[in-house]
Amino acid sequence: MLTQEDLRIATLGEPTIPSPIHRGASGKYVPDTMRVLYDIECHEGSAPPTLGFEKAGPREKLFFDPARCRAAIVTCGGLCPGLNNIIRNLFYTLHSTYGVPQVLGIRNGFAGLNPATGPSPVWLTSDMVEHIHHMGGTILGTSRGPQDPSVMVDFLRSHGVNLLFTIGGDGTQSGAHKIAQEAQRRGAKIAVVGIPKTIDNDIKYCYRTFGFLSAISEAERVIDRAHVEAKSVVNGVGLVKLMGREAGFIAAASTIASGEVNFTLIPEVPFELQGPGGLLAKLEARLRARQHAVIVVAEGAGQHLLTQHSIRTDASGNPKLGDIGVFLKEQVTDHFRGREIPVSVKYFDPSYYIRSVHAGAADSLLCEQLARYAAHAALAGKTDLLVSLWHEHTVHVPLAISTGEVKRLDTSRDMWNAVLAITGQERW
Ligand code: ATP
Ligand code: MG
Repeated sequence: MLTQEDLRIATLGEPTIPSPIHRGASGKYVPDTMRVLYDIECHEGSAPPTLGFEKAGPREKLFFDPARCRAAIVTCGGLCPGLNNIIRNLFYTLHSTYGVPQVLGIRNGFAGLNPATGPSPVWLTSDMVEHIHHMGGTILGTSRGPQDPSVMVDFLRSHGVNLLFTIGGDGTQSGAHKIAQEAQRRGAKIAVVGIPKTIDNDIKYCYRTFGFLSAISEAERVIDRAHVEAKSVVNGVGLVKLMGREAGFIAAASTIASGEVNFTLIPEVPFELQGPGGLLAKLEARLRARQHAVIVVAEGAGQHLLTQHSIRTDASGNPKLGDIGVFLKEQVTDHFRGREIPVSVKYFDPSYYIRSVHAGAADSLLCEQLARYAAHAALAGKTDLLVSLWHEHTVHVPLAISTGEVKRLDTSRDMWNAVLAITGQERW
């Protein structure tokens, strides 16, 4: 059970420097006492809930004098649409809006915060970032794999960095939390502000991460192609594997957007292949009724079915998943082989294609908002926090509570009910 104390944001000290941002140009300042309620629903007649996140936004007083600051930006983990938008908008807010003279681009993720493993950082300029939001990927490069927080704090201190922006998923923000704690332990005045990046939309206390909607648009296109393939032959099966290691948000949302999916398989909902209630029997019923089917499977779904269960991990310590897409393709093909229902399975695995596209319009807006508010937070001396979206407001979330475990799709709620209604997968 969260308390208001759990949501308290750490600060480096009393902000005393008047902000150079003028009210007229950028709206009102936001006081530190302003909250965005955690829960916005309540029953008529009952006392409204009071628990709330600190509201993000420009502060009237800053902790850092922008003219005497140096910022650094690092991107870590897998690619996600919008990384370059964040870099660009951070640079412009820091440099042009606040007048921070120097912004360092850290190369290749946390590896670039260790002189022994990474290339030297680059000084970002307006010319460098001007057009990057039209490109997928990250101009700074990224990586997986741990670095020693004390080495990274040494690096930041030796480069005179006061403001560090960490753009990444749960792993990155866990690393950022360790950097913030190490800086605090040494009394180093470094503001560490995380910006949540995960195409899977699985960061806790973040309603929607950037890149998610762009991924849905691309996934919907692929599902559409799979549907065309499936309908073009008798008993065609379009099988699409999408991202979602621990959470099925992409699979669920793109199913809803497409409206053409018959089976959506996500990590949160275990399924069986065999038996009367198993996927294969249901698929057979669907093919008998309609002569074609579309299956969407999240990469983390059905891992218990894979016999060659892997205990290997990637460089960051994340478990390497078995390939559920290839497995299902084989199982479906084998099941129907030799029966009176010959099937034609067309398998699509668009993961890398999807995550490397550039951000769509909705994500571009979100990136601009998150980057701008991250700059406001850091210059006000706030640290060890994530800038996050909550009920369409931008808020500060302590890294300590948003990392360590991921957000998963709540199957009792609207999104999964919509998936069940659209697919009819409980009918077959
Ligand atoms: P995504 O999974 O969405 O691609 P991520 O940020 O979770 O993004 P990871 O590769 O897991 O990606 O982590 C990114 C960086 O953070 C890596 O350099 C990794 O070593 C580091 N990291 C991961 N987990 C931790 C942790 N618990 N403590 C410190 N650093 C971590
Ligand atoms: Mg991760």
